[in-house]
Amino acid sequence: MLIARNPLDNTYVSAFDVKHMPPQAQPNKLLCPGLSPDGSPCLAAVTPAALDSDHKHPYFRVGRVKDHIAGCTESSTRVNPADKTTDRRGIKGKEAPRGPERRVQIELRHPEASAARATNNAPHMLTSRIGHHRASAPREYVRPMTLQCGIRKAALDYARDIISDTDTVSLEGKKGPARQFIYPAERLLYAPYNSHAIIAFGQLHSISQGTAPNTYFVRLCRPNGGPTKVSIMIGAEHYASLRPRVHLAKIEPSKWALIACGTITGKTTDKRYLRPFDGLSLYLQRTSASGFDNLAQPRASSPRSGGAPSRA
Ligand SMILES: [Zn+2]
Repeated sequence: MLIARNPLDNTYVSAFDVKHMPPQAQPNKLLCPGLSPDGSPCLAAVTPAALDSDHKHPYFRVGRVKDHIAGCTESSTRVNPADKTTDRRGIKGKEAPRGPERRVQIELRHPEASAARATNNAPHMLTSRIGHHRASAPREYVRPMTLQCGIRKAALDYARDIISDTDTVSLEGKKGPARQFIYPAERLLYAPYNSHAIIAFGQLHSISQGTAPNTYFVRLCRPNGGPTKVSIMIGAEHYASLRPRVHLAKIEPSKWALIACGTITGKTTDKRYLRPFDGLSLYLQRTSASGFDNLAQPRASSPRSGGAPSRA
């Protein structure tokens, strides 16, 4: 992970900022930036790693994978390549094992800029760089960073602006700019029909029952408060496990977010919907004050790359 949460003021800190601080200035207690499925922030302590590496970007990791809160968005994240444990500074720790989760590979073109965007979104106190601990060549910061993670983290990192539209995403054997693979509610209209896999996410607008038994269709909430034209199917095979959540989400849709991975299909383009691949491709979870509420909001506050229309 490129950012960590400072529990003292609930702001986020970039691993690059920590790298540039003298050891005595580094915050001594930082937590995982992940969220549980009920929207709670993870309380796992993290430590900076690879601070002196010439080959790997700095990042944060947990001491033990089991420290993560259950269902943490960060619990199956891996930074590539695996650490060769040659750091002189930064504490050794574990990265996650490969889980059963559907995985996506992300290549951040400018990791330091990614982390800076995410931390600048919140007021923070760690902006001053008190001398450079180590003089780094500028080219270090344009080296890409590759990581693998689950689709919930990919959606959250996109919402936090860690993943920009021009970063590279590999999903289900296809690779391209993040913009073509990750769709917040306001861009879901532009997701490709009968084409490659995509990840869609956002706050719920409404849930309606389909004609087949135990089948529901979710519409996400657009920034103007209206529903997305493209819906997301909760099929009978998903409904069995999601039933209690679907029930609660129908009562208070704005308290829930959906993250789904699948393809856009349907008899006609007018009736198109996202069909998730399987149970590991559909997550109905609580929005939270600390992060996932951002899923509902376009990242209008930060300069966007691309420049294509962003409203559906
Ligand atoms: Zn965590």
